[in-house]
Amino acid sequence: MTTLHGKTVMITGASSGIGEATARELASKGANIIIGARRLEKLEALASSLQEDGASVAVQKLDVTDLDQMRAIVRLAVDRFGKVDAIVNNAGLMPLSPLAALKIDEWNRMIDVNIRGVLHGIAAGLPIMKEQGFGHFINVASIGAYEVTPTAAVYCATKYAVRAISDGLRQEVTGQGIRVTLVSPGVTESELAETITDNEAKALMKEYRRTALPASAIARGIAYALEQPEHVDVNEMVIRPRI
Ligand code: NDP
Repeated sequence: MTTLHGKTVMITGASSGIGEATARELASKGANIIIGARRLEKLEALASSLQEDGASVAVQKLDVTDLDQMRAIVRLAVDRFGKVDAIVNNAGLMPLSPLAALKIDEWNRMIDVNIRGVLHGIAAGLPIMKEQGFGHFINVASIGAYEVTPTAAVYCATKYAVRAISDGLRQEVTGQGIRVTLVSPGVTESELAETITDNEAKALMKEYRRTALPASAIARGIAYALEQPEHVDVNEMVIRPRI
């Protein structure tokens, strides 16, 4: 294991759930943390609580669908801490519905945040990591990246895409000191299901989400991947609640 002390990690979607838990976990292990999301007040409250415990934290409002904002937050990491060791592309939405409900705006939002958001993280981070000669992308997918469940066709499609992009990236950065880890959570406590507007999907999710992991369980998985020695590249992790 290598120490996270002094490593610089940027986390998207850090205002709640898995992103927030990841910020807490990595900060507690001595990493410099840069946290981004749209709800700035939540990020600031998180930063204050981490700083009280002695952590180095920078906050920036971030909409992952905006490439300029993504570039700015990665630049902030480098300006503030001199480098970016890892980017956790975690921000995501899950407004589930059957295709026949034709919630086209919700399909597009999932595509924009869950796929384009991850691509923007790669676009912003890859040139810097290549120049540094080191870096690590942690892309948060889902068990929905491996199988499609009712009302989740588009959500799963976005997560299959994150899995494909992550594997393609891993192949392309071979020999350049850059690692890629896909982290796929099963049901986890967070605000994720609150984006569901479709009644059928809401009812299904209520049943499905009865057994959930705390977000800290996923955060520990992310920390595990980051703590490995440089020659160890953890490619994929699926973390589900035991039932
Ligand atoms: P939450 O809803 O608690 O967190 C989602 C985060 O994404 C929030 O911080 C939200 O912040 C942020 N976000 C949403 N849209 C944007 C945007 N346009 N720009 C920047 N940030 C954005 O859910 P989770 O913690 O569960 O979700 C984290 C990831 O884990 C997602 O990718 C999700 O798909 C994945 N996942 C979750 C599972 C679960 O059961 N919880 C299971 C499998 C995968 P804000 O609104 O402030 O912008």
